[in-house]
Amino acid sequence: MNNAPVGVLGGTFDPVHNGHLRLAMEMATALEMAHVRLVPCARPPHRGAPTASPGQRAKWIRVAVSIEPRLRLDDRELLRDGPSYTVDTLASMRKEMPDTPLCLIMGRDVFAHLPKWHEWERIFDSAHIVLIDRPDIETQLHPDAQATLDARAVGNMRALHDSLCGLIYTYTPPPLAISASRIRELLANGESPRYLLPTAVLDDIMDAGVYMTCESHPATAAN
Ligand code: ATP
Repeated sequence: MNNAPVGVLGGTFDPVHNGHLRLAMEMATALEMAHVRLVPCARPPHRGAPTASPGQRAKWIRVAVSIEPRLRLDDRELLRDGPSYTVDTLASMRKEMPDTPLCLIMGRDVFAHLPKWHEWERIFDSAHIVLIDRPDIETQLHPDAQATLDARAVGNMRALHDSLCGLIYTYTPPPLAISASRIRELLANGESPRYLLPTAVLDDIMDAGVYMTCESHPATAAN
């Protein structure tokens, strides 16, 4: 295989933060990926609707990755009608990149419930999975997820370069205790999330007044 793998990091990105961005950089560097795409979902099938609009979430990712060529925004799920099924996203990427290994990046906590996803087994027809081990989060895998891991696990990341799809590689990046829900909570309480996310993204959130309740005053919250 001549092409380096492309990483795919899906999420709500409500908003994008340094935990997402650093994870994507770790993947691009440690696994020698061509680039990593951040793919915001329009209507997450497994959780409530995001607070920020699709346009805002995409704009913040665009701003955040603009200085780093190894990270990109891929907004195809926002342009598609209906629920954001990962299997459809990966199939459309596979059509565009027939000779490039694709690596879907997901936390072990997310993988634990993979068998509940729409046509989950077909994901392996388009992509590998890079499983992000989070030693801080204890997770019991669904029996079908455990069986899939046992059948598809590889111990050497070079295997991700040598085939297009179908394998699972586990990677443990240095942990960063940052989450979008914590950022939303700080803003709702009128407190500052500065340094948890890029300054340009925070500035835009403050300008637009997203995530703030009536009590949290935009003029003071980010200072
Ligand atoms: P929320 O707090 O709203 O649940 P989040 O911060 O977990 O959001 P998502 O958009 O749900 O963000 O995450 C997208 C992907 O990024 C998921 O696979 C998630 O496991 C991963 N991720 C998010 N934050 C981190 C982090 N600090 N370190 C490593 N991976 C992360």
